[in-house]
Amino acid sequence: MNTKVVKINRIQPNPGAIYEAGLIIKNGGLVAFPTETVYGLGGDAFNSSSSKKIYEAKGRPSDNPLIVHIANITDIDAVATDIPSIAYELAAKYWPGPLTMILKKRPELPKETTGGLDTVAVRMPVNEVALDLITAAGGFVAAPSANRSGKPSPTLAQYVIEDMYGFVDMIIDGGDCEIGLESTIIDLTSSPAMILRPGYITFEELKEMIPDIVFDGTILDASSEEAPKAPGMKYRHYAPKAEMILVTGPTENVIAYINEKATRGRENGQNIGVIATDETQYLYVAPSIKTLGSRNNEKQIAKNLFRILREFDDEDTDIIYAESFEEKGVFRATMNRMIKASGNKEVRV
Ligand code: AMP
Ligand code: MG
Repeated sequence: MNTKVVKINRIQPNPGAIYEAGLIIKNGGLVAFPTETVYGLGGDAFNSSSSKKIYEAKGRPSDNPLIVHIANITDIDAVATDIPSIAYELAAKYWPGPLTMILKKRPELPKETTGGLDTVAVRMPVNEVALDLITAAGGFVAAPSANRSGKPSPTLAQYVIEDMYGFVDMIIDGGDCEIGLESTIIDLTSSPAMILRPGYITFEELKEMIPDIVFDGTILDASSEEAPKAPGMKYRHYAPKAEMILVTGPTENVIAYINEKATRGRENGQNIGVIATDETQYLYVAPSIKTLGSRNNEKQIAKNLFRILREFDDEDTDIIYAESFEEKGVFRATMNRMIKASGNKEVRV
């Protein structure tokens, strides 16, 4: 398949290209596009063959549902039914933005889009290119993250091109994703409401509006034997090519442990990488040390994770040792992705 790559952003809007991208989706094709969270791989949510194409392009199991992206809050009624009032309250507060709601799906929406479930995931992004594209495509764009299944989500167009060139009709390069981490998913069909995937909008924030909100206990507990409620959370995810080990403990212990492993690795001819923070990056001795940002800036740390994992892929790193974070606020989402990226390999020191 020929893939067209176009650059569109706020400074270089390109209505012609948006129109063309919208037409591709309307005609059953696929377009990768920027959102504020990560790049999405979009198709017409009401076209079952488009959804099938998305699963193929990603290499994703078809029981793992897609998120339906809309461009107007009121369009929620076209994909979902029996919508509780809290959904409208959440939409008023957090949309457009990085919150995905699980609601009962309308029968008109094909089961292929929802991975066979009778619920639907809906989100209205804030990114302008995404909103323009959704509108040009008819209003309902089913889109998972635009990476090959299992790889870190793309936060820059170059990684979308790496994974999706030849598999999609068009890739829109809109620069880097402001948030860089996927949306928070909240299930409003269960009682009490449940967070299925932690994200940029935190448990603490949502609790203010929904005091009895709970977490799907399987998502942060690596040893849980129960299947997570969001089907996607059960698959190996976000994985770099290298083996990744998360190191948890007092800072001095973490640094000492990683430095010892890096020294040993060098003796064995291994290419060792370290995921550090601004506060610690100069204290490591290893061939490749990358900082996620300052521990005082949880949003910056969340934003940099996927990019850094991809950079280690490009450096042919053998083992990545990563610092870990306290599970609160946005760090909870970062930790969730890091635990998955490491395939649950965590050492306590
Ligand atoms: P991605 O688009 O790559 O961020 O993946 C979408 C995520 O939303 C996956 O983890 C899905 O399992 C989850 N998801 C989508 N629809 C539903 C649904 N109806 N119920 C539960 N989880 C969902
Ligand atoms: Mg994904």
